[in-house]
Amino acid sequence: MYRREAPSPEVMQGDTLLIKSGGAAALTEWQHHFARLMPGLRVYGWDDPFVDARNVKYALVYQPDHGRLAHYPRLRLILSAAAGVDHILADPTLPTGVPIVRMVTEETRERMSDFVAFAALAIVRDIPALITAQRDGRWANDLTGRLAHDTRVSVLGLGELGSAVATRLRANGFQVNGWARTPRLLTGVNVFAGEAQLDALLAETDILVNLLPDTHATRGILGRKLFAQLPAGASLIQVGRGVHLDRQALLDALDSGRLRSAVVDVFDVEPLPPDDALRRHPKILVTPHIASTVSYAARARQVADVLGAHLRGAPLPFVYDAARGY
Ligand code: NAP
Repeated sequence: MYRREAPSPEVMQGDTLLIKSGGAAALTEWQHHFARLMPGLRVYGWDDPFVDARNVKYALVYQPDHGRLAHYPRLRLILSAAAGVDHILADPTLPTGVPIVRMVTEETRERMSDFVAFAALAIVRDIPALITAQRDGRWANDLTGRLAHDTRVSVLGLGELGSAVATRLRANGFQVNGWARTPRLLTGVNVFAGEAQLDALLAETDILVNLLPDTHATRGILGRKLFAQLPAGASLIQVGRGVHLDRQALLDALDSGRLRSAVVDVFDVEPLPPDDALRRHPKILVTPHIASTVSYAARARQVADVLGAHLRGAPLPFVYDAARGY
């Protein structure tokens, strides 16, 4: 899709963007994009010894070393290189009063929608069981699957990604429910809101998609109690954060037949160890946190848009709200 780039306001002489994302190999690519998008901006790698700390106004980071961001007295914005900010909030000495901006792009929504549509279709067509049958040399022509039209998919979280995913699933023919903290209208989606309506949503679910943020209220939500409330034989698509899932509860639910299958993309420990039980389970399709890994080009464009808004004094998009926790 062609996208006209708005001219960005001038950065001040010496204004520096410090980057910790993708390592040294990615730095050249980041610098290439910013040279085009914001020619006046100085762009340095995280460990560059020639950076003048007083000039660092912006930091684009993934898992910044604890204590480092507090060293830049003129830091104005912390830009997350990923949609979540848990990897930044983990720093106990994070400077207060500096906005943290989440990385959300059109490509993030598109990639996540592609991935969840793939995963939901893989589940209705019993792909995990067909892969096992192929490995075992069985001609499993009894595994004919079911229709998307007859399948209820419930999306936990109707934010930037969840609402795009719900809309895509609807377009793929699924019956779609969604759950958010606050009620809203979303075309073609049956919306449930708040703790009080979670039970009702779960009872109407054949495939549960997790796209909640990591907050105190959501950690461990994919556990025994929730699995017990799903109709027997339901499936899970876990693309939120590893902390949402009680892994033993999932293994038990799959082994007992309460759950039929799961697609899991995010884990409490990443990379997932080679001998991890989740990796070995025949009813789980494991992917290595790639549901929505966005290109450097799209992320650089988004950063340039955010810096442009900051320089113009305009409201910033996708700012982490500490009071809400996401
Ligand atoms: P977001 O825009 O912040 O949306 C969060 C949604 O969750 C909102 O709809 C919010 O409700 C709802 N919510 C929050 N707390 C809730 C609660 N206690 N009860 C019910 N609903 C609640 O988040 P996002 O950008 O869509 O990201 C969603 C998740 O995807 C995050 O965990 C992110 O880390 C993950 N992610 C994964 C990948 C990957 O590759 N696997 C890539 C990108 C992002 P309201 O609308 O009412 O506020």
